[in-house]
Order: sequence, then C-alpha cells, then structure tokens
Amino acid sequence: MPEKKEQDLMQKIVSLSKRRGFVFPASEIYGGFANSYTYGPYGVLLKNNIKNLWWKKFVLQREDIVGIDGPIILHPKAWKASGHLDGFSDALVDCKNCKSRFRADHLVEDATGKDLEGKLDELKKVLDEEIDCPNCSKRDWTDVRNFNLMFSTKTSVVEGKEQEIAYLRPETAGAIFLEFKNVLDSTRVKVPFGIAQIGKAFRNEIVAGNFIFRLREFEQMEIEYFISPDDDWESIFEEWLLLQEEFAFELGVKKENIRRYEHPKEKLSHYSKKTVDIEFNYPFGGFKELFGMAHRGDFDLSAHSKFSGEKLEYQDPKTGKKYIPHVLEPTFGLDRSILVALLCAYQEEEVNGEIRTVMKFPKRIAPIQVAVFPLLKNKPELVKKARDVFNFLKKDFVCEFDDNGNIGKRYRRQDEIGTPYCVTIDFDALDNNSVTVRDRDTMEQTRVNLDELADYLKERF
Ligand code: ATP
Repeated sequence: MPEKKEQDLMQKIVSLSKRRGFVFPASEIYGGFANSYTYGPYGVLLKNNIKNLWWKKFVLQREDIVGIDGPIILHPKAWKASGHLDGFSDALVDCKNCKSRFRADHLVEDATGKDLEGKLDELKKVLDEEIDCPNCSKRDWTDVRNFNLMFSTKTSVVEGKEQEIAYLRPETAGAIFLEFKNVLDSTRVKVPFGIAQIGKAFRNEIVAGNFIFRLREFEQMEIEYFISPDDDWESIFEEWLLLQEEFAFELGVKKENIRRYEHPKEKLSHYSKKTVDIEFNYPFGGFKELFGMAHRGDFDLSAHSKFSGEKLEYQDPKTGKKYIPHVLEPTFGLDRSILVALLCAYQEEEVNGEIRTVMKFPKRIAPIQVAVFPLLKNKPELVKKARDVFNFLKKDFVCEFDDNGNIGKRYRRQDEIGTPYCVTIDFDALDNNSVTVRDRDTMEQTRVNLDELADYLKERF
C-alpha cells in the first residue's frame, strides 16, 4: 500500500488541478465519465508547453528527424498487419457476485507474484483456487476472456453497401510506418533517421486509472527511428534512453524518482531485441511506466509490405544496397508527462506560520509566465499603468492580468498556478517608472525600471 503521505499528495494534486483549472473530470454535469478528463485553461497551456518542448528537442533541433501528423482512423488492414486486431487485448475477469471487473493478470500477479500474462486457463485456475474479489471478498469468478482494447467505428455509409468497420488508432506509431515511403521520397532524410508524431490514441481501458495516468483517450509523442540492420543498435538504443531521461528531467523529475525496467528476454515480442520502460515513482503503487523504448526490428515495415503489396525498402545511396531498415521506438505519454510535471512541481512551504502551496514548474513549461497586478483596483491611474505594462509584456510572454482581491491573495493564486514572476505596479511606478518583480521560488521582490523590464524577464526564462 502506498504511504498515507503519498496518497495525500495525489489527492492534493487532483483537488488543486480542479480548483485552479488544470484538469477537470470530464462530463461532470452528467455524473462524470470513467477514465476521461478535460484539460482546463491552465492545463492546456501546460500541455502545449510540454508538447512544444518535445517537438523542439526531438524535431526542430535535430537534422535527422522530421514530423508528420496522420489520421486517427487508418485503413483497417493496417491494424491486421500490425497485429493489433488479433493481439491487442487485456485478460479480463468479472466477479459474479458484485459485478466488478478486473485485469486477471494484475490480480494474479499482485496476489502471487506470478506473471501469467496471456495464459487464460492458468489465470482462471489461480483465481478459483487462491484469490477473493478485492471488492466484495467473495470468490465467484467468470471465465477469463481476452478483450480487445481498440475502439471500433463504422465508415462508408453508401446506400446498399455494407458498412465497414474501422478502428481508432490505439497508438500513433501506425501512421508513421504507412508514410515511410512518402517521407523518403519527399525529403532528404537518410538512414539513420526518425519520423515523429504527436497525437491522440484510444484504448478501451476497462480498469479505472489513477487520474490522468490511464485514460481512454490520451496523447502520445512517438518517434520511429530507422537504422540499418548493420548499425550498432545498442549504442543508439542507449543514446535514446538517455534522451528520454533528459526529457523527464526537463519536466522537473528528480533523478531518484525514475529508473529503467528492462523487459526480461522471455517476455519480449518475437521481433524485439530489447524493450526498456522508463518508470516514475508515482504516489500510487510506486514505479510504473512513464515512457517506453523498444527495438522492433523490421517487423512493422515487413508486415505492412506484406499486407499492402508495396515495397517498404531503403536503398543505401553509397552502396546501392536495398534493405528493410530496423526501427527503434522511443515513445512518450503526454498525459503521464503532465501528471509527473504536476507531481514534481507541488511544494508546501511554511511562510510566517502559514502554509504556502506553490507549483515550482520548470520555467519553460509554466502555464503563465508573468502576472501583472495594479497594487489597488480603485486607483484608475495605477490600473491604467498596469494595463499598459500588461499589453506591452504580452507580446513576448504569456501573461495574466489580475486586479482582484488583496495583493497577498493574488500572489498565492499565482503560486498555485506556478507563475514564475509577478509584476506589481504601485505608486512608485507613477513617480519613477519602476515596478516590483516578485520571484515565485524565493519570494524576493526586486525593483526594476520599466525600460529594462522585458530584458530582465527574458534573461530569466
Ligand atoms: P501500461 O503498461 O501502463 O498500460 P503500455 O505499455 O500499454 O502502458 P505503450 O503501449 O508502451 O504503453 O504506450 C506508450 C506510452 O503511452 C506509455 O509509456 C504511456 O506513457 C502512454 N500510455 C499508454 N496507455 C495509456 C493510457 N491508457 N492513458 C495514458 N497514457 C497511456
């Protein structure tokens, strides 16, 4: 069981997220809807900052990676080729007494330490012999069934023609393989190179998740990095793991809170040489997956070649040799990135006998960069000057104007949003053109001349 303090942290994050407009439970006015959440006004800013940080680091600042943005609904054959149609499923079991539904492999692993993933009969046997329902304590299990996680929908509503079943993508990577040839033909990329994509993925997750850790629709940031079968893949794999860890640090994660988990050889898919999860120490249940990294061999390109009849090969420009590249797949969950950014930022500090709650996001991802306040709301000359400062700063920074309530309260609110700098316009601003800039982390206030304010702030971001 997670310690109480840690459970409290999770509750505090959930409640702050709602109170301050980071994350709302979705469809709440209809009583909520399992595993779905809405990013509120500050949440969407945080989310976009994390996406931009990723895109900049892995696409814009590299010569060997290009981006695409593919559709959510691909040709249904793509999922047959990738193996998702036949194999992308969880083993589920229901309690006949209280009707609760569980992942059978999780129940068995938690109770016995045995990893029986994919072995339905053995799972059922252990459940019947050893495990009571965690909800009602009875032992009356249905059969264990495989449940495909893909959402299906129907296309082509042509009169007299049968509708075709299509699927919402369960991962973003699919479209990357389908566009492999188009990217090769339309750009100057040469192996080794990568194709990156950010977008929504959909999984019919039955088991309720922890806040935004497990959602039915979520966003992934994925790269397929194509290499030659002759390349030293192990060193490239290691480089990618280091980059994934570096990205976690950029979200505010501390070294001691992540670790690598290498999947044992016997559990790897037949095509994978190596798979490693980057795990974060979540307040619920400890270390769990944040990012993943897999060697997928030539499985995907070969399978799509076979099913589509289109050759997905690469010709080495120097030797003229043709081959199907191998692929390394670093994958990043955006929603889990947001969750760890929230968890790592949260701090409580005692200030003059009171608790101050402050979200110490790394400045680059803070939703609001600068808040601008007139000291008093009822002094038109202060409000006007503050509006001028706000209009000027918002050209370069994401700013918020606030003249509500006393100044202390306004600081507290910005602390909870995680705004690195608050600029207050007081009477001195009218006399000598200077304002106070308050630092979120140290709470120090510095007087800065208005002519130098933009540079002062730029230096600090
Ligand atoms: P888990 O074992 O936690 O279910 P997974 O191994 O199925 O994850 P991948 O298929 O490797 O996950 O997906 C890549 C990334 O997408 C994960 O590292 C995670 O960050 C994110 N992810 C996967 N499933 C979900 C989900 N249901 N909700 C939110 N993020 C998810």
